[in-house]
Formats: sequence, C-alpha cells, structure tokens
Amino acid sequence: KKAEWAKLKDEKSVSADGKEFVIGANIGTPKDLDGVIDNGAEGVGLYRTEFLYMDSSELPTEDDQFESYKKVLKSMDGKPVTVRTMDIGGDKHLPYLPLPEEENPFLGYRAIRISLDRDDIFRTQLRALLRASVYGQLWIMFPMVATLPEFRAARDIFNEEKAKLVAEGTPVSDDIKLGIMIEIPAAAVLADKFAQEVDFFSIGTNDLIGYSMAADRGNDRVSYLYQPYNPSILRLVKNVIDSAHKYGKFAAMCGEMAGDPIALPILVGMGLDEFSMSATSILQARSLMKKLDTKDMAELAAKAVDAETNDEVVALVKSNVSAD
Ligand code: PEP
Ligand code: MG
Repeated sequence: KKAEWAKLKDEKSVSADGKEFVIGANIGTPKDLDGVIDNGAEGVGLYRTEFLYMDSSELPTEDDQFESYKKVLKSMDGKPVTVRTMDIGGDKHLPYLPLPEEENPFLGYRAIRISLDRDDIFRTQLRALLRASVYGQLWIMFPMVATLPEFRAARDIFNEEKAKLVAEGTPVSDDIKLGIMIEIPAAAVLADKFAQEVDFFSIGTNDLIGYSMAADRGNDRVSYLYQPYNPSILRLVKNVIDSAHKYGKFAAMCGEMAGDPIALPILVGMGLDEFSMSATSILQARSLMKKLDTKDMAELAAKAVDAETNDEVVALVKSNVSAD
C-alpha cells in the first residue's frame, strides 16, 4: 500500500470523475517542512504560529518571526501558505505572558480575543507576515473568530500595518488573502454573512466539534460525545462550504476531520475545496479521493446530513465506500 501511495506524491488531488481538490499540510514549525515536501502537499493549509511563541522565553521579535515566515514561504515555492495568527489561551500558555485565572479558559481570553486586546503583539506579528509576503503566496487567518466586528477589527489593523510598511517603502505583496477559522458554532451558523467579507474559510473541526457538542475530547467521561460525523456537525460544515461558494469564496478545512477516511467522502460530496492534514495522511487521502465519484459522494453527503446519529453516518459511509 505504502509503495502505491508513494507514486501519488507528484500527482494532483483529483476525484475519479476528474474534479480537482487541494490537499495541504498542517505544520507547527519550519522544521516540519521536510515532511510536507516529501508527502507531496499542494500547500500549507495551517501553520500554527503559536509554537513560535511557546518555544521562546520572551515574545518573539518581528525579525525572528519574519525569518520563520520567510523560510516557510520560500520552501513552499509559490504554493499557498496559510498562516494562522497566534492562538494562545485555552490550554496553550506563555510563561512570559501571564493570562488571568479563569473559570472556563476554553470560553475565555484566547486567540483573536487576546490579539485584539494586546494589539501591540498582534501588530508585530502582522508586520512580520507582511514583510515575508513577498517570498510566496501568503494567506492569513484569524483563530476563534465569533463575530463580524472581530474580523473587521483584525482586518483594519492588518490594513493599517500594511499602509505603514508601504509608506516606509518596504515591499509587501498586494495579493495576501485574509480569512478566518470557523471553529465557533456562532460563526458557522452565520457563515453567509462572513462569506461576504472574507477571502476564505478554514474549518477547525477540533474546536468546532467540542464547542458544538459541549464536550471535551480529553475528558473520558464525556468523550463519547465527541462525534465528528454527528449530522449536526455535518450540517454546520455544509453551511460553511455552501456559504463560501455562494459568494465565490474558498472553503478549506484544517481540523483532524479533513484527513479522516470516514469524513473525506462526505466532504468531497459537499465540495470542500481544500483538505489540510498532517503530512503523513496526505498520500492516503489522495489515494482514497481518486476512487470517489463526486456525484455519488454528493448523494452520500445528502443522506449523511439527513441521518439521525453519528453511528448511522459511519455505517452509511462504510456501506458506500470501500476502505482504501
Ligand atoms: C481546530 O480547532 O480544528 C484547529 C485546527 O485548531 P487547533 O487544533 O490548533 O485548535
Ligand atoms: Mg482550534
């Protein structure tokens, strides 16, 4: 099998009936790039920049960040690189940035909420990204966006820093795409409104499932509720994809679900544009995709969103798609 998959390294990600998709890789640091290139990723769909902050004993400087971003963009050689701005809080802490003690850190001060509050930190990151943007095709996305005003505030800060750099004579790309992670149910429900303002969505199913089911996967007593194929989750995902496409925007997914062989046929049927996953899952996903017909999968997806339970959807996929 592995040898068969390896042959797909330089091939496109295409369904049996010839529809092209994008399979990207998730990375945490530039050190992950070898795996990305070895496994034939068509881009980086999620660069989790918080590791830059977590692996440091103080706030990383603009120049430090610039070097990392430049390295990733250059290595990807013109393929799109989606960089997620700092996603700190929840379970991720920085020793040098004390966060308030909170009863519910996962419902608290984190990610874009910190960036908008501590815009000094946010501006430094955006400046580093803007300076690096000339070395490749940069997409920037904001984590844990719940409301339109949050996105607009982040975009305004981005535009301000861009204007400052241009005024200083620093070259920046004029083609940076701005998007949001969809990982809060409120944003998934309101996707048709967001789609009119963003360039792209990337669905973060790890958090989206947890927040939708109000269940922490890491908590054994309730982990049975962590149900990626629950039709409620599938309906949210479908709403996000359909809303993006209604306004000509791009719909990606970077949560674990994107590389999951049970979910993938349904997502192909829904017309998801990009699947971003850990590099080691890419070739297997590309191989499975090659066997799927998009019309058949659209029928499967319609049945899945109309199902009642997670288990029913699993059975439905297993009876319609032969395991790779
Ligand atoms: C997600 O929530 O699905 C996601 C990709 O972000 P992270 O796993 O880094 O929270
Ligand atoms: Mg997340």
